[in-house]
Amino acid sequence: MPRSDEPAWIRELETRLGKAEAPAAVDAAAWLAQAGPDADPVLVRRMRLITALADSRTGRVGDGAAAIRDIREWAVEHREPYLQARTERILGTLLRVAGETSVSLEHAVASVELLSDDVWPEIRADHLVGLADALSVNGSVDGAVQRYQEALVLLQGGTTLGQRLMALNNLAYTLYEAGRFDEAAAIAQEIRDVNAANGLELTLHAVDSIASIYLALGRDADAAVLFESVDLTASAPPEDIATVQLTRSIVLRKRGDLDGARADLDACRQYCLDHGVGSVHVQALRERAELSAAMGQFEAAFTQYKDFHEQSLTQQQVEREARARMMQAIFETEEARRESARFREMSYRDALTQLYNRRYVDEHLTPLLDLGVVSDQPVAVAFVDLDHFKSVNDTYSHEVGDEVLRRLAGILERGVYGVHDGFAARMGGEEFLLVLPGQAADVAATVLERARLSVEQADWAAVAPGLHVTVSIGCATTVDDAHDRLTLLARADERLYEAKRSGRNRVVGVPATAKSGAEVG
Ligand code: GH3
Ligand code: MG
Ligand code: MG
Repeated sequence: MPRSDEPAWIRELETRLGKAEAPAAVDAAAWLAQAGPDADPVLVRRMRLITALADSRTGRVGDGAAAIRDIREWAVEHREPYLQARTERILGTLLRVAGETSVSLEHAVASVELLSDDVWPEIRADHLVGLADALSVNGSVDGAVQRYQEALVLLQGGTTLGQRLMALNNLAYTLYEAGRFDEAAAIAQEIRDVNAANGLELTLHAVDSIASIYLALGRDADAAVLFESVDLTASAPPEDIATVQLTRSIVLRKRGDLDGARADLDACRQYCLDHGVGSVHVQALRERAELSAAMGQFEAAFTQYKDFHEQSLTQQQVEREARARMMQAIFETEEARRESARFREMSYRDALTQLYNRRYVDEHLTPLLDLGVVSDQPVAVAFVDLDHFKSVNDTYSHEVGDEVLRRLAGILERGVYGVHDGFAARMGGEEFLLVLPGQAADVAATVLERARLSVEQADWAAVAPGLHVTVSIGCATTVDDAHDRLTLLARADERLYEAKRSGRNRVVGVPATAKSGAEVG
């Protein structure tokens, strides 16, 4: 949870979604550009989320999706529920716009559940609106209406006007889509009242929604009045301008002004072509057929309707492809992450035996030893070296030698099985390392002695007739020797050579307290 005295501009940016998210992203990007290296890492990510959503809407879908996923992972790892809630909120919106409605609902639900009780009302309202939007596209109209209303209760204050209008607009649209036109009209009136009370003009988007509701109720005259003060040259998203032109044309047709309707419709189609607004253009083609029919030109109407139908299929294809691209961008990020995890794992493995390699030991032994110091737990390490291995290669073959290495690896791995955080590694050639953290001296000694015995008693004749294999083992521990990796390994290595010198096939350096036990076991 961010501090309660945090400046209000931050949550003001965070709640500017929908039509207002592009300018919010510009402000967030400006903040990020001046943020120094010691800026609050959570705040940096909160700002980055705002730009990521905008990225994903402006063609940089891959960048946006990757950033959102990274931030989510970071939030979980660092136990930042507020940041995670924000990420779920953004992800829910992104997926809903991409048409992934049911997945989007899961994220929207999480975005509300992750908020703590004392979060600011406008943030909770924002997440409730996100949940309501997701419920709405999933067909849960009642659930959506309930969340919009809860959000509106939280948004009574004057500073949240933009948010309040967005919640009202989405509520009206949900009711309209559900065929609940009277309720939609009541909300439409509230939108008009709120605007009037604050001396604001209706946005193009609001004009269009309200006009559609009035048309559905047969209130054509009321719809017509709405367009009287509309300024189509005002700066607004091209889609909104085109949509308003189209709706105005429909209103004129219904009121019998067919020439006016035709003029508006032609203007709309031209605008769509000039500004690449494909979705509205398709709707305009259908309206063209309707208008021809209203003019009694039925043959033209029929041809135009066929044209609309074809274009509509093409447009659906375009939208499907855009959606697939977005999902691929999100998916690819995960794929890439899995790939890199796989490569990292591969780079830690020895190709012949599949055991960990020296690189893994170099990177992981020191932290393990540090942990042992902190938790006051001993760590034992042991070098394992094949006895007279050169002669195995010489007597049998290099292939037999390889098979011996593979089987030995299996025996060693089984030897450390059950030792928490314990592992076997191939350090190179015919030299292996066993690492045994947290074991009492006698347990470590038993594990090593059993490993030695398992090698001696394994069925090597199955690899090559007459083959016998033994190993020598040199052990060192953090209790008796040293805590730093290099000294510890050097001690173990010295003891390995002691084992070789004193006759091979033996363990040297098992903890003093455990020697008698090891000899018995
Ligand atoms: P000691 O008991 O003193 O350890 O004698 P040794 O013969 O095992 O030791 P030495 O160091 O003289 O020889 C090690 C041999 O291991 C030489 C090398 O050919 C063999 N070797 C190293 N890596 C591999 C491998 O990947 N495959 C096979 N087949 N042999 C290998
Ligand atoms: Mg050897
Ligand atoms: Mg050797």
